[in-house]
Amino acid sequence: MDALEKLKLLGPPTCFEPAEEVVGAYRPPPPQDDDDLSGCIHNAVMPGGKRIALLKTMLTSACERDCAYCAFRQGRDFRRATFTPDELAQLFMRLHGKSIAEGLFLSSGIAGGGPRVQDRLIATAELLRHHYGFRGYIHLKIMPGAEREQVLAAMRLANRVSVNLEAPNTERLACLAPHKVFTEELLQRLRWIEELRQEVAGRRPSSTTQFVVGAAGESDVELLTTTEYLHRRVGLARAYFSRFTPVSDTPLENHPPTPPAREHRLYQSSFLLRDYGFQVEELPFDTGGNLPLDSDPKLAWARAHLAHVPVEVNTADRRDLLRVPGIGPKGVEQVLQARRRGRLHNLDDLSKLGVIAERAAPFILLDGRRPSHQLSLWPV
Ligand code: SF4
Repeated sequence: MDALEKLKLLGPPTCFEPAEEVVGAYRPPPPQDDDDLSGCIHNAVMPGGKRIALLKTMLTSACERDCAYCAFRQGRDFRRATFTPDELAQLFMRLHGKSIAEGLFLSSGIAGGGPRVQDRLIATAELLRHHYGFRGYIHLKIMPGAEREQVLAAMRLANRVSVNLEAPNTERLACLAPHKVFTEELLQRLRWIEELRQEVAGRRPSSTTQFVVGAAGESDVELLTTTEYLHRRVGLARAYFSRFTPVSDTPLENHPPTPPAREHRLYQSSFLLRDYGFQVEELPFDTGGNLPLDSDPKLAWARAHLAHVPVEVNTADRRDLLRVPGIGPKGVEQVLQARRRGRLHNLDDLSKLGVIAERAAPFILLDGRRPSHQLSLWPV
């Protein structure tokens, strides 16, 4: 099997590993020998906002673990493939030279133990950085059980590193991945990343994680409590929520898929925790610890707390402005700047600042008065 054939087997499955903001399919230029790579190349937004063509692939689809949801679990019958580090580095540079791939996301199955696979991921990145002189974006997965020195080596090579927790705690992980150890094998690596960022000068790669949502009976409050901890205590840049989709010939093949709306509400809530100053206990969970699927969590909070106590936009502090639906972090900065120039009188003034004024209107005062607005048909 040549390297391109391997890529066509190893690239597309990484769609189940969200890692950067992917904003639609990327259509690479089609040179004669590099036919359809659309499942491997993604139009991705980098942490700084730049868009690049990101090659996403695994180093190997061989795996000795038996995670209940995973297409790559040991014993499952399908065609597997493995890159050597040299083979993948060469292929990436060939695609890079043709402007097909500008950055690399690299994950892997586990064959021969986490540390051995981690060595091969690091070797690939070392070849790219030191042999080929590649200076672009690299995202490296940190394997379960990787050693602290390996985590440091990966951090020195990568722009982003990630550890897939998969579940919010030990009990839930046992349902999904009976041979992964939540704290010692996974969470500890995220803690090391944060420690090493503090200790070691130089590169400071961001870190992310992924949860599989809906396969282990976990509630949203469990997922978001762990997410809040990760943002506040281990400097996590982003939690990704990957809704469970059953895979044939796995123990969970008859488990129902998770609705997309649940994933969406979890993302909205995680942004409230990370960027809006919300605490997990303020989110509108039902008695089972889950978010309502039919309402935006920020809007639900505002209806309960601001409908009768509106926020005066001309005097409110940053924290209170962030609580208003329709005002995001950028909108708050715009409002604060505009207030230095003069008072804000009406919804048009807010719209010009990037605020979704009709959404904010029921929860604000402008110059002491509720702004007149049409009854909103805004979707929740
Ligand atoms: S270790 Fe990773 S690749 Fe292997 S079965 Fe588990 S989730 Fe799948």
